[in-house]
Amino acid sequence: MKAYAMLGLNKAGWIEKDRPSCGPLDAICRPIALAPCTSDIHTVWEGAIGDRSNLILGHEGVGEIVEVGTMVKTFKPGDIVIMPAITPDWGSLEAQSGYAVHSGGMLGGWKFSNIKDGVFAEFIHVNEADANLAFLPEGMEPETGAMLSDMMTTGFHASEQAGVKFGDDVCVIGIGPVGLMAVAGAALRGAANLYAVGTRPNCIKVAREYGATDIVSYKDGPLDEQILEKTKGKGVDRVLIAGGNVDTFDVAIKMLKPGGSIGNVNYLGSGDYIKIPRVEWGVGMGHKTIHGGLMPAGRWRIERLAQMVVNGRVDPSLLITHRLEGFDKIEEGVLLMKDKPADLIKPVISIKW
Ligand code: NDP
Ligand code: ZN
Repeated sequence: MKAYAMLGLNKAGWIEKDRPSCGPLDAICRPIALAPCTSDIHTVWEGAIGDRSNLILGHEGVGEIVEVGTMVKTFKPGDIVIMPAITPDWGSLEAQSGYAVHSGGMLGGWKFSNIKDGVFAEFIHVNEADANLAFLPEGMEPETGAMLSDMMTTGFHASEQAGVKFGDDVCVIGIGPVGLMAVAGAALRGAANLYAVGTRPNCIKVAREYGATDIVSYKDGPLDEQILEKTKGKGVDRVLIAGGNVDTFDVAIKMLKPGGSIGNVNYLGSGDYIKIPRVEWGVGMGHKTIHGGLMPAGRWRIERLAQMVVNGRVDPSLLITHRLEGFDKIEEGVLLMKDKPADLIKPVISIKW
């Protein structure tokens, strides 16, 4: 089969690979909507998880099941399913302890385009299909469904981790597709003042549609100073991080109120340490908490989020700015994600077989 892969550090391209085989608990899908992710870019062009050779990229998409294992109960060939980016081993001790995404070791649930071939392939292997796949709701276009594989569950997880409550003042740092979903999640959880940090005009427009009350540019001076000025020196209750770098934690702590918390979903592609400012962290006693997490997945989670979309609580299709047609457009989609033209939020590739 044909696939688009990481060939080595800083190198991606088309390869031929054997079609994957289906174990008793697994499923094989053909992609019908795929989306490249900033994480694919960190992986190939920042070497964030080390070198990989001929590893198929991609972890966001909707597919049609073409084969299921003998023990799969819920799904059958012909079903249209959301393939979540994270596909844990649900029987693991980590899953039993509530952290399925770390099954088998830290970040171990992140298999696609990390420890096994991803979804940019003519055939996709999904482990533990019953637990990991989710039905695409009737009437939802597959391209919108692809935004549930990763963007929506990740962005929402930022606000879950930070524990956004009714009336909170919230700052979302980074309003690419993940941060935009964090804005939407924070608004749904009751944020009062919602400051969104970013510069791309399309992203700013969608941030406002999702409920941002103020837009701040990290290019206009230190973020903490700008937020402290806007909040009359008080700061915010929650900071959701979906962009920036290792230094972003420094400004996040500085803009956070005592008792506040940070929810990070940004993939820190480079740098060795995160800096925490001693004084603004209350010399160690400020009750300022930092959380960071990989997106939760699983059928239960993804189908619940999909139902929010069905009922009009949030529309993740607003993220889609570039629609490409055909399997051979995967490369163009990946390069769009790498180059991030100013009008890009998220590209999607639609595929007909
Ligand atoms: P984008 O690159 O599209 O967006 C990044 C955002 O951060 C943009 O709004 C950008 O602003 C802003 N930004 C850039 N530099 C700074 C800075 N120095 N300070 C503050 N803001 C800055 O990324 P995505 O939305 O696609 O992804 C966000 C992150 O989430 C990525 O690291 C990705 O790998 C990660 N991720 C994590 C997952 C998880 O499970 N935890 C899952 C999926 C993705 P501008 O408007 O100027 O471009
Ligand atoms: Zn992703």
